[in-house]
Amino acid sequence: MRGLGGRWKIGTLTSKYTFENSMLPIEKFPKIDAHFHSTFNDSRYQKIAGAFNVRYININTDADVFPSLETQEQVALSYANASPQHFAYICSFEMNNWTETNWYNDVLASIKKSIQNGAVGIKIWKNIGMGILKPDRSFLMIDDPFFIPLFEFLQENKIPVLAHLGEPKNCWLPLEKMTSRRNRAYYEKHPAFHAYLHPEIPSYQRQIAARDAILETFPDLTLVGAHLGSMEWSYEELAKRFDKYPNFSVDISSRLGHLQMQAAQHPEKIRDFFIQYADRIMYGTDAYNNHEKLETSLINDWKYFTTREYCQSTEVDGLFQGIQLPEEVLYKLYFSNAKTIYSRLVF
Ligand SMILES: [Zn+2]
Repeated sequence: MRGLGGRWKIGTLTSKYTFENSMLPIEKFPKIDAHFHSTFNDSRYQKIAGAFNVRYININTDADVFPSLETQEQVALSYANASPQHFAYICSFEMNNWTETNWYNDVLASIKKSIQNGAVGIKIWKNIGMGILKPDRSFLMIDDPFFIPLFEFLQENKIPVLAHLGEPKNCWLPLEKMTSRRNRAYYEKHPAFHAYLHPEIPSYQRQIAARDAILETFPDLTLVGAHLGSMEWSYEELAKRFDKYPNFSVDISSRLGHLQMQAAQHPEKIRDFFIQYADRIMYGTDAYNNHEKLETSLINDWKYFTTREYCQSTEVDGLFQGIQLPEEVLYKLYFSNAKTIYSRLVF
């Protein structure tokens, strides 16, 4: 394939999925789902890997709704050990007992061990900034001096950080003002996470500023903003961060609909954004123990990215047109950026 270093070939295959003007067969094009969750062994992912030529980065997460981190890591390792060409993982650490003196020793030792076992990065979650309180009852933010030794360690050891910090901007708005049907449904169901109802939670702007402070203070740290770095509402704001912080990249997981909303009026602007920042954006589905969501996302997102067909989404009112990205851009988005950014990947 031209410009792709011969890594993959289209050949003469016809795709069983018909996309009117996509020249690329979805089954053959190499993909990495850089934001995926599976917390129990499920053989269906191996089949989907074969059917769609997709590999997975299983993201361990320090959240109450997930099984323990120990279980998540065991499961992630069993996938990776059984099929290292298809499964990798990103480890995490517990914030429990963060005020105790041995927390740092234990956490740095556990991160070292996970990296030795094959983890390609570490995940930090929104409990930092939106949930954990300091002894003085203020919220522990990611730019708190407490975390300086952690980021120094990660920067020095070239361990990438996948940061889910903050939430969609809609989280700070009343339900009727939210721009996304999906966000509205989610916060209606989970009022505990709806920041608008909890004015004590630091503002959206404070969450983003705390993350930006880490990018600024640790310029050699590789930091990936999960879910478009929680700047899903404005591709222009995201572009400003890319311009300012060369160490910053994002995955699109669970937030592509927000870009499609912005593209509904001016599809070319979003297309230009994906082209201009082609090295900084990774594909991801955020499928969580949900093979149906995984398959549906793979197919729908492919249609959007590779064709000019009209697409539909549960999140966007009406039809919107696909952006048919150049093949080189697709290759970066779907495959090579994840390999570059998570350089420990073996697939
Ligand atoms: Zn996720």
